Amino acid sequence: MENQTLTDKALALLRRFFGYTSFRDRQAEIISAITSGRDCLVLMPTGGGKSICYQIPALLQPGVAVVVSPLIALMKDQVQALIACGIPAATINSTQSDEENLRIMESVGRGHIKLLYMSPERLLLDATRWPENMRISLFAIDEAHCISQWGHDFRPEYARLSILRELFPKVPVIALTATADRLTRDDIAARLALRNPAIFISSFDRPNIRLTARPNPGRETKLKMIGELIRRYADDSGIIYCLSRKSAEQTAAELKARGYSVAVYHAGLSPDERDRTQHDFIHGNVQVVCATVAFGMGINKSNIRFVVHNNLPRNIEGYYQEIGRAGRDGLPAEALLFYSFADIATLRSFIDEGERQMINMEKLTRMQEYAETSLCRRRVLLSYFSEHTDSDCGNCDVCLHPPTRFDGTIIAQKALSAIIRCQEKVGANMLIDILRGSARTDIISRGYDRIRTYGAGRDLPASEWRAYLLQMLQLGFIEIAYDRGNHLRVTPYGRSVLTGATNVTLARFLHERHNTAPTGKTPKTDRKTGRKTSAGCSATTTATNLADQALLKELKRLRMALAKIEGVPPYIIFNDRTLCEMAQTRPLTKDEFSSITGIGETKTEKYWKHFTRAIKKFSE
Ligand code: ADP
Ligand code: ZN
Repeated sequence: MENQTLTDKALALLRRFFGYTSFRDRQAEIISAITSGRDCLVLMPTGGGKSICYQIPALLQPGVAVVVSPLIALMKDQVQALIACGIPAATINSTQSDEENLRIMESVGRGHIKLLYMSPERLLLDATRWPENMRISLFAIDEAHCISQWGHDFRPEYARLSILRELFPKVPVIALTATADRLTRDDIAARLALRNPAIFISSFDRPNIRLTARPNPGRETKLKMIGELIRRYADDSGIIYCLSRKSAEQTAAELKARGYSVAVYHAGLSPDERDRTQHDFIHGNVQVVCATVAFGMGINKSNIRFVVHNNLPRNIEGYYQEIGRAGRDGLPAEALLFYSFADIATLRSFIDEGERQMINMEKLTRMQEYAETSLCRRRVLLSYFSEHTDSDCGNCDVCLHPPTRFDGTIIAQKALSAIIRCQEKVGANMLIDILRGSARTDIISRGYDRIRTYGAGRDLPASEWRAYLLQMLQLGFIEIAYDRGNHLRVTPYGRSVLTGATNVTLARFLHERHNTAPTGKTPKTDRKTGRKTSAGCSATTTATNLADQALLKELKRLRMALAKIEGVPPYIIFNDRTLCEMAQTRPLTKDEFSSITGIGETKTEKYWKHFTRAIKKFSE
């Protein structure tokens, strides 16, 4: 009974401030647990809706909720979004003056702030000096995996957060992360000294993100494919992750030369330059950012429609977090991954020796397996997060273009024989050139043009050879000698292919699958939640009413103008999903306007006139 009224109150707050009609998945349970004073550990994918889990409890209870977050950009973004919804929130951080920070602490003291965002360093510095009577409703530790050595993003300043428990034994702690492996999870609970925590693990599925992976098809094709994505989502934005600064710069330059709106972001730029890029991206002044991994963590931008990985990422956790930045609004989005032999070699060389070496190697291997799989990619991903599904997803490249298999014994024998005839002293690229009979000078000078298999693979293009070699690697016929110039070696299993004792089945390389960018069909309804994953409003859905599209463009223009005036990113005003619903339902009164998903009381008051007027005008 008591729980019921709590949930009712929580729901009323969700409607009033956020304009959402119902809680997702486990949100209600989590809110009720933390509000009753229980420590919580929440595992939810990026974009899953973690923030609501502590924001609503903060509103339900007296006092201030203190939120720990690793990045200033992230804090500012959240605070802006909360204020836009009419919730008093603030951040204390090193980019603000002492006076400003002092002023904020005074309003916290007067009970005027419901959510206070801080970095861990700042919190540990300040907490000992807080007045005895300061009322703290809860501590929320966002990106909690940063506390764990086992996580993929360890931050020493998080490690000291364990003293919160000693300083504030009565205040419940909620730790939230998108990293789900068991080791990290247990480590978080231990390091934060959580007391008998309630553990909530949501589905990690993000069904609206289309997954595609393919062997690097070569620079030109790659740029062409990226260009197609950029054009397909001309009104929205995307991120291209690169392994190095140099490749980020180069990719950006090449795309710019093709006329696209692109910026770069990496650690080699000054903080000012980086801030500017981030600002331009968030505010919609630049469409695409080519970035090294540092980019995106602080970005809550909801209309990122595609995330491209130019190279294989180091591990699945990081990869999943990065692609999770696409399609936070639930509308169709794309994740496109390119990978190559060279990536695997480079990434291996990055892995330091020491305690974590084995784990990092293992993580890289799992990432590689994901890239090379010929099973439903979403199933592979979800099983990595210990989530098992009983059906294929229908929204990954493997599901959409199932590979056909064929007897590849002869192909494999040609490659294996060439490797042996070159004394196992060539890498993948050279091997392909030898098989295709290239007259590269180093091939001639080393006499590889005289081996029997020189030119024996002329009939297949290099991209196809690359794909088959990767499959042979995955099947265990060859291995890469990472300690010896990444030369290819034939395993004992591979030798059994040469003697004819083992046959090889390969997945047919389809040009259709490998040479075009993923296509934008509408994904299915979310299997688990039944949530529609497309509001039928993506620029790619052919069934969408053209007039709605035109109105949507108009509404986006209005949103942009308002955002400029207020100096906030457009998505802080309304996300795309809300605008889509608006374009479809065309509210003309204040009541109709307020019933749209994502429009709470504050935003209704502030914007209903602007938008209903624009809709009226458009309809005439
Ligand atoms: P995370 O922190 O887990 O990455 P967020 O908290 O930023 O995710 O939430 C992702 C998006 O989902 C946000 O736009 C948020 O407003 C929205 N959202 C969260 N909960 C709900 C809900 N119950 N109904 C509708 N939208 C929601
Ligand atoms: Zn699939």
